[in-house]
Amino acid sequence: MHLKEELKPKDLMKDNWEEGWIEVEGEIGEVTRCPRCGSRIERKKGDIDFLDGKITVHGFEQMQCTKCGFIFMNSEQAQLYEDLYKHFIKIHEEKTDIQSSLCNIR
Ligand SMILES: [Zn+2]
Repeated sequence: MHLKEELKPKDLMKDNWEEGWIEVEGEIGEVTRCPRCGSRIERKKGDIDFLDGKITVHGFEQMQCTKCGFIFMNSEQAQLYEDLYKHFIKIHEEKTDIQSSLCNIR
């Protein structure tokens, strides 16, 4: 994980990271088939970006189709993603507060 500088609050407000997701209907819990082509899926660890790539988490586990390569999250992974996402936003908000208060000191 690494942090880049120069955060703008409006960057943090972007909420388009859900694009490309497919809602899996039916049972909540373990998804065993690819929602796109119905083939077998397996767990795969990879890098995932938060906040437009300002933060990269390595080794984040997602599900990947063995046939078409479609990558998605099951409910457990989506929950983890959401927790991390909120956590990072909080860190960046605090950081932004510190920076703006420093700017006010003359
Ligand atoms: Zn597939």
